[in-house]
Amino acid sequence: MRYGLLSYLRCPECRDALACFVSREVSTAISPFVASTAERAPAAGHPFAPSGSFAATTSLTERLKALGGPPVPARNREAAVESGVLICGGCARWFPILESLPELLPDHLRDAARDAALLDTLAVGLPPDIRDALRAPGAGGAATDIGVHYKRAEIGIVSKLDNPSHFFGPGYLSPFNPGNTDFTLYLISLFGNVVKLLGVNGSSPREVILDSGCGYSWTTEWLAKSGFEVIGVDICRAYLEVGIRRIGESHPHLVVADVENLPIADACADAVLAYESFHHIPDRVKAMAGYARILKDGASVVLAEPGEDHETAAVSVDVMARFGILEKGMELEDVEGYIAGSPFGPPEQLWVMHASAAELERGINLPSAWRHSVFPGNVFRVRKDAARIAPAPDVSRSTLFSAPKDVDAAPSPSLDEDLRALHVRMTYEWSTEVRRLAAELRRTSGELAALKRSPFWRARRMCLRLMALFGSDRAGVALKSGT
Ligand SMILES: [Zn+2]
Repeated sequence: MRYGLLSYLRCPECRDALACFVSREVSTAISPFVASTAERAPAAGHPFAPSGSFAATTSLTERLKALGGPPVPARNREAAVESGVLICGGCARWFPILESLPELLPDHLRDAARDAALLDTLAVGLPPDIRDALRAPGAGGAATDIGVHYKRAEIGIVSKLDNPSHFFGPGYLSPFNPGNTDFTLYLISLFGNVVKLLGVNGSSPREVILDSGCGYSWTTEWLAKSGFEVIGVDICRAYLEVGIRRIGESHPHLVVADVENLPIADACADAVLAYESFHHIPDRVKAMAGYARILKDGASVVLAEPGEDHETAAVSVDVMARFGILEKGMELEDVEGYIAGSPFGPPEQLWVMHASAAELERGINLPSAWRHSVFPGNVFRVRKDAARIAPAPDVSRSTLFSAPKDVDAAPSPSLDEDLRALHVRMTYEWSTEVRRLAAELRRTSGELAALKRSPFWRARRMCLRLMALFGSDRAGVALKSGT
């Protein structure tokens, strides 16, 4: 864990700042992909100066401040924390940093027995008064977590595998899949396109991107190498360990955390990417509210996810049955539901298509967009809008573009937006159709004019005049002059 990550980390339970007690530090090679010291001042709520207080152990906050530590930015490039503890100044909880990975899970997802044993080895040099003030993870929280069984299944996936090295093998090569070029190209083209939708462009200081549910972390790696300050978060430690082994010591910021309880500072992120991961999250409303909290105003969340038929696909059914992991895809209406109650603008579904000029001239409508899509997946984008609270979706609509059933009812704001979208789309489609018809008219008029100048046309007119002269009436059809 690089020191620079401390600027963004917060307690997942109370959101206060964390002090870092290092038990083992390692020197690292300077990576061209890590933000330099001059680029970023410490964020508000300096990690070595927790701001909170708690009645029973007020002295802890003072002691943590006094304990201090090395200035964060100065050591970001040449040293990293291999093990230690993160101590919350607000609630006195502590969190382990183990083999370079900080684990910031909420109480109910922690292994209390394992963590208690860890504290003895990670905090050997911790001053006794601080050690005594630390609070063990509590037992509550599980009751309010609707997807706790899915999460525990993911956290403990290694125990369900007959052959972990075989299961995690692809992670060491991610995103490349030898022998499956199709899948490799799918992953790369999807990533290459969604990264353009994040609304970040490499300005300085480096823009901060949360890679939510990063798994093997290749997207985190590629974003970091593209020039962004990226924080990869996943609930399953094993995936991140594979990522670190693949990338090496210059790996980007990685954190073991629950996306529904993000241990990340408020309003620090310029974008959130959920790449093939949001469909594993049980409480999506809570996850979206967390994204809204950590995003700057106007910043985007981009979801690249499978559609609603994903959960009935054979491979998903198998994964759910064997590993207990949630596999639930989504459509635009679902995303509207996930953002309801959070400060987001209306969600957009975006299409990346290949189409010929002729197909564009004919116009591509929504039903045919799938045929032209570059990749078989859904891409959604929502922008944080601090001045707005996204409304609950209108359940009376079966599809986005169907007509409202009750035309007398007062239109909801989202319906209003949808009708405007429908109007824009239909205007575009009809103007495309009018342009196509006009072009066809010009072409056929030109052909007719050329035909009228041709020898055939002159011979035909001569023939008609002769027939009129000698009394032929073409079986009763009157002849018009000049044809
Ligand atoms: Zn706390």
